[in-house]
Amino acid sequence: MASKLVAPHGGKGLVCALLTGADRDAELKKAKGLKQVEISDRAKGDLIMMGIGGFSPLTGFMTKGDWKGVCENFAMTDGTFWPVPITLDVDKSEGINVGDEIALVKDGEIFATMQIEETFEMTADDKKWECEKVFMGEGEESVDGNFWKLAPEDHPGVIMVQAQKDMNIAGPVKVLSEGEYPAEYPGVYLTPAQTRSMFDERGWANVAALQLRNPMHRSHEFLAKIAVEVCDGVLIHSLIGNLKPGDIPAPVRVKAIDILIENYFVKENVINAGYPLDMRYAGPREGLLHATFRQNYGVNNMLIGRDHAGVGDFYGLFEAQDIFDRIPETGDDAKDLLCKPMKIDWTFYCTECDGMASLRTCPHDKESRVILSGTKLRKALSEGAEIVDHFGREEVLDHLKEYYAGLTEKVEVKMQGAASGDTM
Ligand SMILES: [Zn+2]
Repeated sequence: MASKLVAPHGGKGLVCALLTGADRDAELKKAKGLKQVEISDRAKGDLIMMGIGGFSPLTGFMTKGDWKGVCENFAMTDGTFWPVPITLDVDKSEGINVGDEIALVKDGEIFATMQIEETFEMTADDKKWECEKVFMGEGEESVDGNFWKLAPEDHPGVIMVQAQKDMNIAGPVKVLSEGEYPAEYPGVYLTPAQTRSMFDERGWANVAALQLRNPMHRSHEFLAKIAVEVCDGVLIHSLIGNLKPGDIPAPVRVKAIDILIENYFVKENVINAGYPLDMRYAGPREGLLHATFRQNYGVNNMLIGRDHAGVGDFYGLFEAQDIFDRIPETGDDAKDLLCKPMKIDWTFYCTECDGMASLRTCPHDKESRVILSGTKLRKALSEGAEIVDHFGREEVLDHLKEYYAGLTEKVEVKMQGAASGDTM
């Protein structure tokens, strides 16, 4: 039976650069004789996504034309939508030239080979321009000239781009490893082909995804359940790549989701999985990236709540929802983003409503509302403070408390306006 799911992004099916079996062995043997170039954690995640089709239709790292088009107009040179640059930086002094073939290495493991089709310089001005296009938002830390005052020290995405080396290299890759993910997250690390076949088996056509990088609290649970009511099912999809120091490790978060599903969901309607990327901290543009690669996983509705992928106060609370209305549409399904946002207003537990509610449904005042945020939860847990009622589910909180009790070093969690609920 034909799949009822949304087609992968880019109109070319799942584009997977991962080699397996004898092909992989032969390529790996060849790779050992090539120039070895050390890559970042971010590039490793990008490569794995290119390997498993999560970044369809990308076949490698972006050319200057694609980089520029993506920054400026959310589109590559052929007109295909893409929200954030997927580039690979190297030192000019490495002496990499067009026509070279190189091996991309992380911590001693060869992740890919790459055919160099283009090299382009990235000056300080180029990086500054990329940061302004990709990361500058409409929150209080971005406006009134605040962006360049604060971002170089406070915005992890900007810090990452500014620390990039002075040259980008572009060209197709052959991916040789999925890293630690298959072994460390069996049953949770799923490829787009795997989630699609699970959705197909369940007969799903209309699928929503919930993006997670924090433990799931009541607000996330509410968002997922709104989606369960109106879609065939929900993919609870956690970032299992790298986070900031002080964030809760992926295995702890994944287990917390399992506990929640076990106790509070109809299991047939939800799938718990993880994806191998790092955070890019691109705020609203990251929300678009979340939708883009979810389309490849077979998802056509991306849940976007309040302050989705927020970074401090650089973005307005609903900017990640609004940006979906501003991206270009060509009318060609092969080029456009087909995974649409499912926009949900600010949600919370309200003692007057006696249940979960949102600004669209609850008429009561601030005093009646228990404002939930992952940052607030992590802060309370790390300080061993009492968690207010209705913040999370007891079974989940017990699991998280156990993790924090086992920590030898105290974690300091920085609170900012959006996370503290002060801006309500
Ligand atoms: Zn209420």
